Amino acid sequence: MLSTTETITHPETNRLDDVLPRPTVFNVATAEIPSSMLAMVLTKPLTPLQPQQVGVPRPKSGELLVKVEACAVCRTDLHVVDGELPDPKLPLIPGHEIVGIVCQCDSDRFKIGERVGIAWLGWTCGHCRFCVADKENLCENAVFTGYTRDGGYAEFVVADEQFCFRIPNYYGDPATAAPLLCAGLIGYRSLMTAGTADRIRKLGIYGFGAAAHLLAQVAIYQGRTIFAFTRPGDNRGQEFARQLGAIWAGGSDQLPPEPLDAAIIFAPAGPLVPQALQAVDKGGRVVCGGIHMSDIPSFPYAWLWGERTVCSVANLARRDAVEFLQLAPAAGIRPTVTRFALAEANEALDAVRKGKLEGAAVLTQSNIGAG
Ligand SMILES: [Zn+2]
Ligand SMILES: [Zn+2]
Repeated sequence: MLSTTETITHPETNRLDDVLPRPTVFNVATAEIPSSMLAMVLTKPLTPLQPQQVGVPRPKSGELLVKVEACAVCRTDLHVVDGELPDPKLPLIPGHEIVGIVCQCDSDRFKIGERVGIAWLGWTCGHCRFCVADKENLCENAVFTGYTRDGGYAEFVVADEQFCFRIPNYYGDPATAAPLLCAGLIGYRSLMTAGTADRIRKLGIYGFGAAAHLLAQVAIYQGRTIFAFTRPGDNRGQEFARQLGAIWAGGSDQLPPEPLDAAIIFAPAGPLVPQALQAVDKGGRVVCGGIHMSDIPSFPYAWLWGERTVCSVANLARRDAVEFLQLAPAAGIRPTVTRFALAEANEALDAVRKGKLEGAAVLTQSNIGAG
């Protein structure tokens, strides 16, 4: 396992380091906060991220300045970069699965030097009709990390302390912890939306990427049975699912060997909704776990009949993070990660776009001395 003081490298790092600014060597215990940092910046949707030296953000009261150690790459980042989500902050530093060290704060909750996680939900208003109904994930005034405020594709990030979470000591390697912050959390919320483990035993998962590979570990820990659906012909993905404990793996165009109690869809492909409806039993639920999906084609009403339901999961609530970050070490959840240097963010996004990775892509902000 890597410690925070080891330098993490990627085979292509040296080539990029020749032309890009190097991350600043930084020690939380002793260093001055530098005035500028390397960030990968989206200036316009549908264009590559630009490596830029930008000012280190300054925390306001109630905010933490965090030295980013690792930031996982989520499919939602792709939707932002590809212009599929409306009105991002521009220019924008993407990234919302952040693990780092608190290096400036005025807080009773956190201390300098603590390792924290920062997720997609960056701030909620606390007074809209959803917030007062305990549905902060639907807040009308919410701010989202790496979308409507700057995120973790950078050396530093500022976050509201109320929306930061302590990383369990079990995850000593920040790159391994990073995918928990969205892939893990959204997977967990999707699983809870599908239903509790006493009722929902046979669970289908469509799209076996970062979220699914964590969700499968949680579900199996809870005693559920996993049926994994990948792109047709993706034998490697199906093998990966079996290695993680799926009792059956096949193409999304196939039906499972027996009807399912529920299915969760992570792939952003609308045609999977009628596919999944045919795979679930009467009374079964199909949960759409992604923020964006292509159109759902029309289908016979008979596939919905029998009290089957289709629903979506939007964002996350802080309670999800607290619960999941307790559950993950207890269940021994181990993310599979492929590491990229910060300056390789475009390559990492492309790898996610092509669906070629097992598990999650993670940007590692190397040269960190956490003191
Ligand atoms: Zn609100
Ligand atoms: Zn995400």
